[in-house]
Amino acid sequence: MSLERTLVILKPSAIQRGLAGEITHRFERKGLRLAGIKMMQLTDDLLNEHYAHLKDRPFFQRVKDSMMASPVIVCCYEGVDAVQIVRSMTGATNGRVAVPGTIRGDYCVSAQENIVHTSDSPKTAAEELARFFKPEEIFDYKLCTHPFLYYSDEYQL
Ligand code: ADP
Repeated sequence: MSLERTLVILKPSAIQRGLAGEITHRFERKGLRLAGIKMMQLTDDLLNEHYAHLKDRPFFQRVKDSMMASPVIVCCYEGVDAVQIVRSMTGATNGRVAVPGTIRGDYCVSAQENIVHTSDSPKTAAEELARFFKPEEIFDYKLCTHPFLYYSDEYQL
């Protein structure tokens, strides 16, 4: 168990389809603490960094164009094991394969227009949060519901 922060990007497909509220609602209901949120327009330079692992894939340019089609909303969520929790709530990359109950399983039918980006490991999460947020855009407030989210041996403030 470790306290983690993770990045969620509500992609243009989520913004355009009016799903931003439904998706942030899921993370809120789960019990994750929203530590940062903002709207931004992604750029080619930022996406070359963010999707560097895809640069040799045939769909690289398409994915970048899709991510720049409208502004996105970037969110930082915090909780014990938050990276794995958010990743499992996201579902498989391809929305046609993603299991119902997951975000991609419930809201999309595409491998590319798949609604959210979520960090895939604690190391990537730290790198990605530093890429998308300034330190002062991440907030350290306490949730007053904390004692009802965790037992004391799981996470004590
Ligand atoms: P994930 O977003 O599930 O971590 P990847 O890091 O492998 O997946 O891919 C990043 C993004 O690139 C995906 O979310 C999706 O938008 C796009 N992508 C991945 N694979 C494909 C594909 N085969 N065809 C089209 N787009 C893809």
